[in-house]
Amino acid sequence: MKIHGLQKMTLLDYPSKVAATVFLGGCDFRCPYCHNFEIVDGSMAPIMDDKELFSFLQKRKGLLDGVVVTGGEPCIYMELPSLISEIKGMGYLVKLDTNGNHPHVVKSLLSEDLIDYIAMDIKNSPAKYPLTSGLPTVDVNTIKESIDLIMNSGIDYEFRTTVIHEHHNVSDFEEIGKWIEGAKAYYLQQFTDRDTVPDKTLTSPSKEDMQLFLKTVQKYVPAAALRGVE
Ligand code: SF4
Repeated sequence: MKIHGLQKMTLLDYPSKVAATVFLGGCDFRCPYCHNFEIVDGSMAPIMDDKELFSFLQKRKGLLDGVVVTGGEPCIYMELPSLISEIKGMGYLVKLDTNGNHPHVVKSLLSEDLIDYIAMDIKNSPAKYPLTSGLPTVDVNTIKESIDLIMNSGIDYEFRTTVIHEHHNVSDFEEIGKWIEGAKAYYLQQFTDRDTVPDKTLTSPSKEDMQLFLKTVQKYVPAAALRGVE
């Protein structure tokens, strides 16, 4: 299996853990705000294969608590369960990042006890999912299925939304709040520009808007919080 990026150590990607982050290229979404588009559209070549990754992780045993498997979208790969199984076999905790469009894959990973933490993006309110996912045919029932599955999984989880000035308003956060009501962790992250972001017209919301959106969603999700707001 091809690996498109490896962050050898991070204190940020896996809450309360020292982790390495593995990036798998390719994704079924085309989010116009994507920060990793060079690995989504295949313009960046892989940096290693899974054997080299396993060899790196063998050497880091005892130094890292866990491994974050992210993308792109990891759940598009049939080999994902065997990749994670190998990582867990070395004694690492595994956090999976997903766009929520593959509940059957998540269900199967959960049933095999292959993940310890899951982070799912909530791109926008249901009506605006096509806009923010860049996928006109996205089925919001599938997204809802992932939300329910994760909230009932019994493992640690978080939902998160990258908030974009041009895409989100207060009523979107009313709708998102109702969708994930009672979730135990939900983070609103401020969009920041980067030269690889596909849509160059997108901008960051103001700090005041972030506070307003947080207050709106906290009516339904008291545990909601801001992350990385400047
Ligand atoms: S789901 Fe994530 S990786 Fe895929 S296009 Fe959207 S932001 Fe990029």
